[in-house]
Amino acid sequence: MVDFADTPDQAEFRTQVQEFIDSNLPAVLKLRPDEAAFRGFEEEDGESPSDDRAERRAALKTWRMALVDRGWIAPAWPKQYGGADLSPMEQFVMNETFTESRAPRLGVPDVGSTIMVHGSDEQKAEFLPPMVRGETRWCQGYSEPGSGSDLASLQTRAVRDGDDFVINGQKIWTSGAHLSNMIFALVRTDPEAPKHRGITYLLFSMESPGISVRPLVQMSDARGFNEVFFEDVRVPVKNAVGEINRGWYVGATHLDFERSSIGSAIGQRQMLDALKNFLVAERDAKSGRSRLDQTDCPRAELADRYIEATVAKTLSQRVISMQARGLIPNYEASMTKVFSTEFNQRIARTATKLLGRYGDVRDGPEQYTPMKGRWATMYLSSVSSTIAGGTSEIQRNVIATRGLGLPRG
Ligand SMILES: Cc1cc2nc3c(=O)[nH]c(=O)nc-3n(C[C@H](O)[C@H](O)[C@H](O)COP(=O)(O)OP(=O)(O)OC[C@H]3O[C@@H](n4cnc5c(N)ncnc54)[C@H](O)[C@@H]3O)c2cc1C
Repeated sequence: MVDFADTPDQAEFRTQVQEFIDSNLPAVLKLRPDEAAFRGFEEEDGESPSDDRAERRAALKTWRMALVDRGWIAPAWPKQYGGADLSPMEQFVMNETFTESRAPRLGVPDVGSTIMVHGSDEQKAEFLPPMVRGETRWCQGYSEPGSGSDLASLQTRAVRDGDDFVINGQKIWTSGAHLSNMIFALVRTDPEAPKHRGITYLLFSMESPGISVRPLVQMSDARGFNEVFFEDVRVPVKNAVGEINRGWYVGATHLDFERSSIGSAIGQRQMLDALKNFLVAERDAKSGRSRLDQTDCPRAELADRYIEATVAKTLSQRVISMQARGLIPNYEASMTKVFSTEFNQRIARTATKLLGRYGDVRDGPEQYTPMKGRWATMYLSSVSSTIAGGTSEIQRNVIATRGLGLPRG
């Protein structure tokens, strides 16, 4: 039998994390259970859903400083770059404790983990500490209008001119570009080479002359992503991560990090608990019965979702245990990503069904918007997550070829 219980060291560490949260987390940041569960789906444009934004922003600063002092923004990184040298298993315990306590986890973007693996010491010293302190906010320049799943066909060109590259081209679906002051981009540095071989992974400032950003508005009304245009943008050659023309492999490491970290099994479980508690508490005004007691209620679906929450947790644990052995999960990350994102959609479908006739209503008076219309919002928001970071079809291709050893279709 697999034993998921903490070892004595893990239990001791869990207590330490809990004590840290209890003494440092500002009250305004501790959300109610139903709010905490939905946070990831409501902050797509970087804004907080609560009305007390100024107070919340100030509290977030205080909370960040407490985490920075402890090295817990990027807990696995070495102390010299602002980390705490924690093992992946300690990180897992920490993340679990934060989620269960409904404390915001302020992490670093995946570009940081990628620099940690492929960057030079100078790049680590220049880019990682400001990331930890929250002074830089990064966006990701992968996709282009003609290059999404077939990313290696990307056309944004970088031409060498002395100590600089000069970049011309366009990226699309760039999440948070309008809020970011830094970007990494995959650019073509050798158009003659086979398509995977002439690409370089570059880091640069979004404030560089020649960059313009145009918003793309999603069907949930969120302004999550953008088009980004480059016109003669100069970037120092020293900002290439890894070898020039070998950036495809640096980008692949980045994607493995991104796919491993999408979705939170504990958060999903919290969402289900919030739904269940609401349904149990809510009573029909006439009959006094809960929706779960009604014969037309598809309540077995709720049980299915709870089973899947356990599967999601097991898949995450597999990824963590690989990281604990110093491995970078590849098809295992794709398994977690495809399961977790499709699971979010199943949760949202089950919830809107169980909430009955008003389950799909987002805005309006309280009696017509159960749970503040959050499930209807999630129903819409969760669609995009099976596309972002590589579509479900692409994840299944990775699992088939690299996981199962099947030939390419
Ligand atoms: C919310 C969100 C945030 C995003 N943020 C960013 C970001 O910050 N930076 C960034 O660079 N990009 C970002 N993206 C873009 C994302 O990476 C691409 O949308 C994704 O890789 C798919 O590319 P595409 O949209 O061009 O679709 P296409 O590649 O044109 O795919 C269209 C359809 O064809 C299918 N398909 C394509 N090739 C195959 C194949 N070989 N086998 C089977 N099926 C296939 C796909 O699965 C899909 O269903 C984001 C996307 C979303 C939705």
